[in-house]
Amino acid sequence: MEKDISTSSTILIILTLIILGGITAFIILKNEKDVSASSTKTYEESPSTVGQPIMGNEKSPISFLEFGDYKCPACKRWEDTILPKLKKDFIDTGKIKFSFVNVIFHGKESTLPSLAAESVYIQTPNLFWKFHKSLYDEQNKELTIEQILEVSSKINGIKRDELEQAIIYHKTDSEIEKDKKLVSKFKIRQTPTIFINNIQIEDPFDYKQIKIIIQKELKETYEQ
Ligand code: CA
Repeated sequence: MEKDISTSSTILIILTLIILGGITAFIILKNEKDVSASSTKTYEESPSTVGQPIMGNEKSPISFLEFGDYKCPACKRWEDTILPKLKKDFIDTGKIKFSFVNVIFHGKESTLPSLAAESVYIQTPNLFWKFHKSLYDEQNKELTIEQILEVSSKINGIKRDELEQAIIYHKTDSEIEKDKKLVSKFKIRQTPTIFINNIQIEDPFDYKQIKIIIQKELKETYEQ
């Protein structure tokens, strides 16, 4: 009799464990599904990169676009932590092209470096990314015209007078307007916001997710 009780108890414990295991697996799978479902948003079209600076293989069908603001600390963190990985894995290997679109969320200190960056892109496109990175490196300082010119003076080849005129007289306003239209069209509310083709990744710091989406886009492009 005692043996029977012990056998039924063992069966009961095993059954309980199986049920609990099942519930746990269900919760884990459900959460994983929720995470992947909430981490991207697909639009009908990709933000246009026409007239935007491009890093990497210009002919690549995979476009990676960052909406960023030179005065935004998270954008600097993204530039310092995620972009180097992206560069190593996908940009320098020619798999994708990378673009940057200005977002003006911090008033004058966003406008001035944006005007300057657009000017450098027009006068010396090959120096754009170097200047872009230097602006982020100086983000902690007040981004005044003098400070921006000081940044430019450390890069050989940038025409200082031309740059100064461009900032003072807002000569690259039309480029800033072009960027503002994209910001409003894609309802950008925070920076950095990133797009891989027409897919927005909700967490721009989720490099694992970024890799998955790029690889998916590459596979779909080359399988067609
Ligand atoms: Ca632009």
